[in-house]
Amino acid sequence: MSQPLFIEEVTKRYGDFTAIDRVSISIDKGEFFTLLGPSGCGKTTLLRMIAGFNSIEAGTIRFGQTVINSIPAYKRNAGMVFQNYAIFPHLSVYDNVAYGLKARGYSKAEIEKDVEEVLGLVKMSEYKDRQPSQLSGGQQQRIALARAIVIKPDVLLMDEPLSNLDAKLRIEMRSVIKKIQQNLNITTVYVTHDQEEALAMSDRIAVMNLGTVQQIGTPLQIYTRPQNSFVSNFIGISSFLSCSVAGNTVSLLGHAFDMKLARAYTGNAVLAVRPEEATLKTIENGGVAGRVQFATFLGDFINYEIELGGDCVLQVNEYLKEGLPIKKTGDKVWVTFDRKSVNLFTADGKESLV
Ligand code: ATP
Repeated sequence: MSQPLFIEEVTKRYGDFTAIDRVSISIDKGEFFTLLGPSGCGKTTLLRMIAGFNSIEAGTIRFGQTVINSIPAYKRNAGMVFQNYAIFPHLSVYDNVAYGLKARGYSKAEIEKDVEEVLGLVKMSEYKDRQPSQLSGGQQQRIALARAIVIKPDVLLMDEPLSNLDAKLRIEMRSVIKKIQQNLNITTVYVTHDQEEALAMSDRIAVMNLGTVQQIGTPLQIYTRPQNSFVSNFIGISSFLSCSVAGNTVSLLGHAFDMKLARAYTGNAVLAVRPEEATLKTIENGGVAGRVQFATFLGDFINYEIELGGDCVLQVNEYLKEGLPIKKTGDKVWVTFDRKSVNLFTADGKESLV
């Protein structure tokens, strides 16, 4: 039976190096939760601690009410799917999926029923007599998923399961995994460094850096209201513009505009602007003056790089629209910002001011 998962003040050290630094995360029963961050941030280390392949130096991990710190990996009821499939090459598809049930002492009839059911879920019933070498990468990953879920695990743990697949299949498999996960209502911890994958699949995401959690939130919260400039930079595209703030007034390159701030602040700051949060005008409109440095045609929109003075460059996306002039390199423009959407951070990037 699927369980909620509690990670409380968990730490992992390799000698002097702290790979996981007092991380706390609560994951609801049935939730699809993603650990997202750059290479080396500690995602795999934390997942392996949940699975039981890495020891826990300090803190507690619980599956529901059960503290699992000192329970060996094979006795934790966790299903695992890895990047490199990790299915047994010498066993047929059927025997690969049946393996965990046999090890748990299920009867032949129970095994047959459960394996058939799960192979149906991953749409691999007709392949049950094949050897893994006769399957494509996507099919092998479906079998790895079937093997992980057939044991009805408390939690399903997945470490970059799609990274060995080609781009098209990767996108297709996102919804295969997500639909099965929702269907079974299975608590899932998913590791990826691919932000698009995380945004597309997750109920909530923890963005990690240097062994710490930078922010936990829904994909929408993380994208629209990053809590610091690391998250803002890691997720999606943002242009970072140095500015100063006094009260509610933001001064940027000689222009001033008001923003609603979360707290009173005076000092230097950084305005973070997504390409869809700025508007370009070709006639003076009180916005910040700039010049088109580069234009990239991307089908239904154009990405402009706008030089705003000094070495300040802003990216702006403009969807093609009747009557909207297409700008060329060198054209003068005036930029206004969607003040409700843009983000503002303290100069060190550590705190959001909105
Ligand atoms: P990637 O996306 O590249 O897999 P990750 O976020 O999963 O990265 P981890 O594999 O968890 O990162 O590693 C976190 C840090 O701990 C890295 O700096 C790594 O070098 C270090 N590390 C991992 N395993 C060990 C080990 N067995 N001994 C020493 N250091 C390790």
